[in-house]
Amino acid sequence: MALSGLDIFKLLPKTNCGDCGVPTCMAFAMKIAQKKAELSSCPHASEEAKAALGAASEPPVRLVKIGAGNGPEVGGETVLFRHEKTFFHPTGIGLEIRTSQGEDKILDDVRELEGYRAERVGEVLKADLFFISHDSAEKAAFLRAVSLAKANSTKGLVIDCPDEEALKEGLELLRNDRPAIYLRRPLTERDIEMAKTSGASLVITASSPQDLADQTEKARQSGLTNLILNCQGNGLGGAIQNNAILRRSALKKSFKPFGFPLFIRIADADGFESLAASAALLCKYASIIILPRFDKALLYTLFTLRQNIYTDPQKPIQVDPRIYAIGDPTPDSPVFVTTNFSLTYFIVSGEIENSGTSAHLVVCDTEGQSVLTAWAGGKFVPEKIAKFIKDIKLEEKVKTRKIVIPGFVAQISGELEEKLPGWEVIVGCQEAADIPSFVKSVNLV
Ligand code: SF4
Repeated sequence: MALSGLDIFKLLPKTNCGDCGVPTCMAFAMKIAQKKAELSSCPHASEEAKAALGAASEPPVRLVKIGAGNGPEVGGETVLFRHEKTFFHPTGIGLEIRTSQGEDKILDDVRELEGYRAERVGEVLKADLFFISHDSAEKAAFLRAVSLAKANSTKGLVIDCPDEEALKEGLELLRNDRPAIYLRRPLTERDIEMAKTSGASLVITASSPQDLADQTEKARQSGLTNLILNCQGNGLGGAIQNNAILRRSALKKSFKPFGFPLFIRIADADGFESLAASAALLCKYASIIILPRFDKALLYTLFTLRQNIYTDPQKPIQVDPRIYAIGDPTPDSPVFVTTNFSLTYFIVSGEIENSGTSAHLVVCDTEGQSVLTAWAGGKFVPEKIAKFIKDIKLEEKVKTRKIVIPGFVAQISGELEEKLPGWEVIVGCQEAADIPSFVKSVNLV
């Protein structure tokens, strides 16, 4: 039976030394009870505590790190649906490299993915992994592909090689790089030995949940914990069904053989099918998704979806509250005011830029809420806006004495003017898309 936070606290040293990264033993005990921390983070835990806590301190889905550099940490989830709390570790997105492609194409793909990044609402989005699949006859081709990826990338590597000798040599090249070994066939004692010797994680492949459970139990019994599960289903529907069974069993039934991150390799199909499959599986528990080819449109779409799913639903994405220069403003440039909800900031700043006008954008602290939500919640009201404008000493930074507020809060204009003597408050447009025409029609300075 799961232990409560109080039960766990009784087993801890109670010194509140903070070495676990949490200020008190009680707070640490609560984190263990919520499956957000592991007992191994407390260097002072007694053997008695380790034995007593045992399974209770294990997270329901193990966190696995691939790669020593920018490779992802995957797994570590505690809920089935993001609205129950949040998802913690975004799906690792990777690209398949086949040794039959030849060195030039491999190098091109590695460099393309390594250099590709997109920025959205202030976050830099990028891929995390390469999956190197040995599908040619020559051992040298596999080793060359591994060397090229290692030399030209800091991402994590998953390697798939049916030639055991070549695989061992590849692992030797990746010593200290924490790769993962993808197994095409059922797990053997030799695979277990290789994983232990090299420190690599194992991607275990099976055709059914029952087959998978048998293999992961064997790996667990041998002491391996860095496992990733690849349960191949019959088509997209089968893959989604299997993923749902595995994750639900891990979280709701505490079924340990399925308490690991989930791996998906997308089949090479046309662009729409690849997108549909990878998007559906990203939503349904894939911890790692390997794409069949480099495709910026596909990557950007998945990055956007991943960002939305792995954003904490209880914490809106925010930007720092301060004055932002849009374009190249001078003290005579107009002043706009808005909230610090990221989407609001990026849409408003983008439309001011589109208008061709340089401006000062005053972003008030509304705890990341959008304009109307913040107004309704008392966070974007005259008193707070006026205080913020005074705190940032806006009148020392600009010569104009006009500020533009969002059209949706036209009702606060009078009171805001009263709180900001000497300033004229102009009611702007309701939709950010109308900013360019608004700027042309009104004298803002
Ligand atoms: S490291 Fe251990 S003893 Fe120290 S505060 Fe954390 S739980 Fe308590």
